[in-house]
Amino acid sequence: MKKSLSLAVLIGLFIITIGQVKSQKIEPIPVKKFYMDRVTKNLQFLCKEAECFDNVLVNDRGLYIYPTSQKVNKPEFILYWREMPHFNEMLEKQTDEEIIDILNRKGSHYFYGVKDTHVNPAIYPVSEWRGLKIALDPGHIASTFDEAKLEQRYVRAEGKYFNQKQDIEFFEANLAYTTALVLKEMLEKKGAKVMLTHDYGKSAFGMNYNEWKKTDYKKDIVQGYKEDWYNREKFEYLMSGEAPDFMIFHDVFRNKDFVARGQKINEFEPDLTLVIHYNASEGGQRYGDLYLPPVNENYSMVFIPGSFLGVEIDGQDGLDQRFELLRLLVSHDLEGSDVFASNIIKALNDDLKVDALPKDNNFDFAKRYSILSDRSEGVYHRNLYLTRVVEGPIAYSEALYQDNKTEMPLLGKKDLTVKGIKTSSRVKDVAQVYFSAIQDWLKYNQELSKQLDALYSDDFGDEKEFKEDIKEQEEDLEDKDGN
Ligand SMILES: [Zn+2]
Repeated sequence: MKKSLSLAVLIGLFIITIGQVKSQKIEPIPVKKFYMDRVTKNLQFLCKEAECFDNVLVNDRGLYIYPTSQKVNKPEFILYWREMPHFNEMLEKQTDEEIIDILNRKGSHYFYGVKDTHVNPAIYPVSEWRGLKIALDPGHIASTFDEAKLEQRYVRAEGKYFNQKQDIEFFEANLAYTTALVLKEMLEKKGAKVMLTHDYGKSAFGMNYNEWKKTDYKKDIVQGYKEDWYNREKFEYLMSGEAPDFMIFHDVFRNKDFVARGQKINEFEPDLTLVIHYNASEGGQRYGDLYLPPVNENYSMVFIPGSFLGVEIDGQDGLDQRFELLRLLVSHDLEGSDVFASNIIKALNDDLKVDALPKDNNFDFAKRYSILSDRSEGVYHRNLYLTRVVEGPIAYSEALYQDNKTEMPLLGKKDLTVKGIKTSSRVKDVAQVYFSAIQDWLKYNQELSKQLDALYSDDFGDEKEFKEDIKEQEEDLEDKDGN
C-alpha cells in the first residue's frame, strides 16, 4: 500500500515535470513575423501625428520610409523583412552616413549578398554585468550656485517652512553629477564599464560658460544658425553683442553642449544610456529673493525615444531624423529603452515611494509632444535631442520633485562628499534606484534572449525560390515606380 502510493506520487511528479518543460517550450517564430510585429508596434509610439505616419508604409514585403507624404514621392529607404537582421548588424558596425549611402545605392533591390552572408536573426541584448557598457549623462553643467542661477536650475526655499532660520539652497547639476558618481562606483564593482559625459562644472566639450565666452564663441553662434537652432532675427541679436548671457547660454552654449554629449555617448558605443535629471513641479512661481514655494506633490517621469512630429520628419532637412526613425522602428532600441524606463519608475515607487506622474495630469508637454508608454505610467516617448540621436537603449530620467516639501530639506543637506564634491546623501537613494533598474533590465534581457533563440531565418527557402522571389518583387516595384 505504502509502496504503490509513493509510486503514484513519483508518477505524478514526473507528469508535472513534463508539463512544466512543455509549457516552457517556445514556439518557433519566422523572422518576417518577428520584424513585422516589432515595426508595427513601434510605429504607434514613434509617430505623434498623421503627418509622420504618412511618411511610413508597412506592407507584406517590408518597410518604406518616404521623404514627404507617401502619396507624392518615391521611398527614400526600403527594407524588406528578410533584410532587417542585416540592417541591425550594420547598425552595430557602420556609421549612419555609411548605412544611408548603402540604402540609397540599393534602392528597391535587396542588399548585395544578403542571401550568402549569414547573420543572426536578431541581435541579442547584453544580459551580463561583465563588460556591460553604460553611459551616464549627468544633466546640466554648473558646479557653483551662481552658475546654476545662469542655468536656471537651482532651488532656494525659505527656512520658515522647515522650522529653521537658514534658507535651503541646492542645485540640480550638483545632485545629478554626484548621483552619477555614486552609481558609477556601484556599476564598476559589478564589472561594468562606465563613461560620464562631462567633468564636474564643465560642458561635454570641456569648458564652462565663462571659459567658452573667452574663446571665439561667435563662430558657434554662426554654426548654430546653420543648424537651425534659431531664426535670422535671433541670430542677428545674438551676434550684436547685446544679447544677455542667459540667452547666449541657453540658445548657443547649451545646444553645443547637447551635441557634444550625443557625440561622446555614441563614440563610447554603450549598451545602455542613462540621462540623469531631477524633476520639479511645473509652474512653481519664484517669489521674493527667487524662492520656490514647497509643494505637496512628488512625481517622477522618464523620457524615451519616439513621438516624432510631422514637421521633424518631412522634407530635405528631415533626412537625419528619418534615419533615426528607421533605426527605432527596426532595432531593439525602443523596447530596450521602454523596459529600462519602466524599471526606473517601478524602483522609484517601490524604494522611494515616489509615484509616476499620473497620466490624467495633462501637462502641456504630454499633450503636444509626447506619447505615453503602454508599459508604465510616467514613461513618455518624446523626441528630445538626446533620446533621438543616442544609439542603443536610453532613458532620460526626471526623478522626484526637488521642490517637494519633504524632498527639499533632504536634498538641501550637505551630508555627503563624493570625490571631493559636497552633496546630499539623498543622491545615494536615487543611485540605488538606477542600479536596481539596470539589474532588472539585465534580467529582462536574459528572458528575451531565450525567446530570440526561437527565431528562425530559414524562410528564405531554397536558392532558386529566393531569387525568383526577389526578382518578382523588384519587377513589381519598378512597375509601381514607372506609374
Ligand atoms: Zn534637469
